[in-house]
Amino acid sequence: MNLSKHPIKFRCCSILLSALLFVMCISSCTLIPYQSAEGVNDNYTDEQLRVHFLDVGQGDSIFVELPDKKTLLIDAGEKSCGEGVSDYINARGFDTVDYLVATHPHSDHIGGMAYIVDNMNIGSVFMPRVSSNTKTYENLLESIYDKDLKITCARAGCVISENSSYKIEVLAPDVIDEDNLNNCSAVIKLECGNAEFLFMGDAENEEIENINADLSCDVLKVGHHGSETSTSLEFIERANPDYAVISVGADNGYGHPDKCVCDLLSQFGCEVYRTDIDKTIVFSYDGNLIKVENGEN
Ligand SMILES: [Zn+2]
Repeated sequence: MNLSKHPIKFRCCSILLSALLFVMCISSCTLIPYQSAEGVNDNYTDEQLRVHFLDVGQGDSIFVELPDKKTLLIDAGEKSCGEGVSDYINARGFDTVDYLVATHPHSDHIGGMAYIVDNMNIGSVFMPRVSSNTKTYENLLESIYDKDLKITCARAGCVISENSSYKIEVLAPDVIDEDNLNNCSAVIKLECGNAEFLFMGDAENEEIENINADLSCDVLKVGHHGSETSTSLEFIERANPDYAVISVGADNGYGHPDKCVCDLLSQFGCEVYRTDIDKTIVFSYDGNLIKVENGEN
């Protein structure tokens, strides 16, 4: 398939409008690589876990550097973000995504993923068993098949990887709701030492209520960009996170995140980070402490 470097096709004859669209595209997908005080290659000299919540505007993309130098990518934002996500991962010193998870077939999660598959080395691909008739979804499947990659069904109980230092497990979906793709979201738990990260995709209350697994976590990627349909009091009591990250675009048309969700998280003493305010947010875990490496809070 043909993925152009700048995916927006300029059909408008107005040079001014084209230039404006170009700037909007670039600004929405340019990610500033995170560097620690020691420099970009510090990930080769320690065995830390690093979880990067990438600022992809209204969408999700989470890049994880595992302690054994393997990598996990959960979602890749909209199509315009694929190249930026790839560049970010490259700048961290990686050209391979060992575990690639497409949580569900909405464009704000899988739009940029075809670019990732086309341009990076990919290990295993995990997707829920639900299809979509969108061009975005078809493009991703085409890229996956062009590379002779197999898709492993992401459903409750699927273990993406497990070894002596970490475990990555799919907690949901158990049943597929074809009428609501959000409720087909792969919900992922990453356990590393005594640190637990929970990534909710866009799962809403109906899917979450069916999860029997332990939802407790230290760091929560809040479901569905902070929508009130995904974060209930009951859920927060089960998850009981210390930190919450809301992946959301500034001034989005959905009203995300809902104020009641932000209030609820704060009432529980949760430190809340938002990609529209804090930009890309990086957590590290050294086997002892979870630290927020950047962010404004
Ligand atoms: Zn979404």
